[in-house]
Amino acid sequence: MENLKILYVASEVIPYAKTGGLADVAGVLPRVLAEMGHELKVVMPRYGSIPPILLEQAKVAFAVDIKRMDQPDTLDRLRLYRIKDETLPLEYLFIDNEKYFNRPELYRNPKTGKDYIDNDDRFIFFCRGLLESLKKLLWIPDIIHANDWQAALLPIFLATAYRKDPFYARTKSVFTIHNMAYHGMFPEESFDKLGLPANLYYPTGPFEFWGKLNFMKAAIYYADLITTVSENYAVEIQSSDEYGCGLDGVLKSRTEDIFGILNGVDYNEWSPATDRYIPFNFSSANIARKRDNKVELMIHLGLPLRDKTPLIGMITRLADQKGLDLVADIADDLFDLDIQMVVLGTGDLKYHKLLEKLEKKYPDKLKVMLAYDNKMAHWIEAAADMFLMPSRYEPCGLNQMYSLKYGTVPIVRSTGGLADTIDDVDEKSGDGTGFVFDKYDPEELLSAIKRAVDLFAGRKNWRRVMKEGMARDYSWQQSAHKYAELYLRALNKN
Ligand code: ADP
Repeated sequence: MENLKILYVASEVIPYAKTGGLADVAGVLPRVLAEMGHELKVVMPRYGSIPPILLEQAKVAFAVDIKRMDQPDTLDRLRLYRIKDETLPLEYLFIDNEKYFNRPELYRNPKTGKDYIDNDDRFIFFCRGLLESLKKLLWIPDIIHANDWQAALLPIFLATAYRKDPFYARTKSVFTIHNMAYHGMFPEESFDKLGLPANLYYPTGPFEFWGKLNFMKAAIYYADLITTVSENYAVEIQSSDEYGCGLDGVLKSRTEDIFGILNGVDYNEWSPATDRYIPFNFSSANIARKRDNKVELMIHLGLPLRDKTPLIGMITRLADQKGLDLVADIADDLFDLDIQMVVLGTGDLKYHKLLEKLEKKYPDKLKVMLAYDNKMAHWIEAAADMFLMPSRYEPCGLNQMYSLKYGTVPIVRSTGGLADTIDDVDEKSGDGTGFVFDKYDPEELLSAIKRAVDLFAGRKNWRRVMKEGMARDYSWQQSAHKYAELYLRALNKN
């Protein structure tokens, strides 16, 4: 296969910054593509929150002034930092501007709990600045792969403002949607900041959505190809207003160009046999060691150790998407069962309060950690017997795949990537990898949990389910090949 020049753009990339699954994908997929021989540049903002030690090797490539399109006399200074990978054809680029990116959080003002009010300015600067920077670098990408609304202006600008620019004449764009719910919406006046012809903004047009400017809608309209992070989610978002978050019509109009490619797992980070964060490493061959992680965790958390009682883990952003209202609905029935539970998460205050209340009510059954803690996330995966993910929707979901590898049997709702990755258990034969329920309904969730608890009590088939999950392979190689094929398809488009 031909080696391509790929610009991979995301607003968060591990290890530099992470709020969700996008960062995991952006940290690994480009590396795997580079291992395949492609030439990669990965681009993100240089946030103030990036630990300085990670930027020690970063060198300033140049500085350039970017014009504000709505105020031509105002110039915003862009500094481009770069870190070259020593072994791969891979380089990280950081777009720096003190005013826009030197802030404590990525998207949200911690003082107000709301999005920064100038998120449009920040990511307009990021995208336009990047297209200008490439010209200074004299590096012409074959593919610009833009992720989510923060990078959505790249395919948009390529097809509009830069359409006749000879520098980008051969460049094609791929736009990946990691979550349909976050559109990047701004007041319609913000359209002027894009510097595009005024006649491109009109009701029901590419940029307009219920009287607002919508970055994601326009990217779906303009990108050469569109992808999302599981095959099932690619179908779901075109099938209803609810899954498509109002953009199902626009998506359907591009149906020939929409593809679902499942995210992979970075097994260098997420393998119980080598995991550096857990007290006891284990594998399918010495599965009994998994229990030692549970014992240690129970001691650490101050939960009474009950050997025959399953421990259910949950690691999640505390957001409506994740099915916490279902858990709230069944809480009393759930804790009537012989189970214990540990929840690690941060997010909406209403869920913080709910979980704290439940923890007080069931102190020997529930432990809640309202924090973002990567080490603890690994430990819970290693220690828990079951993993709960009753999402309302789930574009791909990573934790259910991590859970499989750690022999932590997932209980999931049949939606998006959860449906693509978890096979419902047949209690008689012991086939399957998890417990799956269909409707977004508290009773259905409760009965799935009861099925899991019952099978756990029987032990024998439980082991079989654990081992079947541990044998599943969702590594990145396969998905990376699919992306590479898709890039070629984009390049062959007129
Ligand atoms: P989403 O991107 O919707 O948040 P995913 O399951 O795709 O959901 O990815 C979530 C990622 O974030 C996983 O790697 C998960 O382990 C991690 N994560 C979520 N919440 C926490 C937390 N409180 N502490 C540590 N890791 C977390």
